[in-house]
Amino acid sequence: MKKIVFRIAAGASLIMWVATVCIWFMSYHRTFSVERHDVDLELDFPYVDIRKLAVAHGGLFYLSQFGAWRVYSIDQEVGVNWHLQSNPAEAYPRFTPYRPFRGQTNLISGGGGEGFEFKHQLVPDYQGRPFFRQTIFVIPMPAIAMISAVLPVLSLIRVRHRRTHCRRAAMGLCRKCGYDLRASPARCPECGAVSDFEIPV
Ligand SMILES: [Zn+2]
Repeated sequence: MKKIVFRIAAGASLIMWVATVCIWFMSYHRTFSVERHDVDLELDFPYVDIRKLAVAHGGLFYLSQFGAWRVYSIDQEVGVNWHLQSNPAEAYPRFTPYRPFRGQTNLISGGGGEGFEFKHQLVPDYQGRPFFRQTIFVIPMPAIAMISAVLPVLSLIRVRHRRTHCRRAAMGLCRKCGYDLRASPARCPECGAVSDFEIPV
């Protein structure tokens, strides 16, 4: 059971790795994004909740913005609304702090470096009251590729180990160290490993 779970996880991870590497390289030529807008038109001031995921120049960008006034044209679809876009390549994603009124800094928390970025901010209205909130992440695609490569690589190492063991056993060698066991089939004189294999004559 554990083995099956590991194999499924390694397979899914491999698919993710391939997809990540493809998107990573394509992102230098095109910028792909998927956006979801939820608009509430029943309010006097319709607001829009935005969730956006984009890949540009080798960086994955996520933005969520809740409760901001609707700045999109009215002819756009409303409600559950997904937008898939492909645009000319944009620069590596960087977050611009939102300062609607002079001198206000709204950053609550944030940090980053080496292409990583995390920011969370509460944007106030002109009277300084909380207005809407924004959260962003930037993760370099190479980091995602490295993480998704871990399980497939482990799986490959396991397969190679198993092959080596089987080959050694079939040749009458110690499975652990490869010492010739034909003279002493029960126990390896080199490393002390006990053999449970039939030794070919
Ligand atoms: Zn041995």
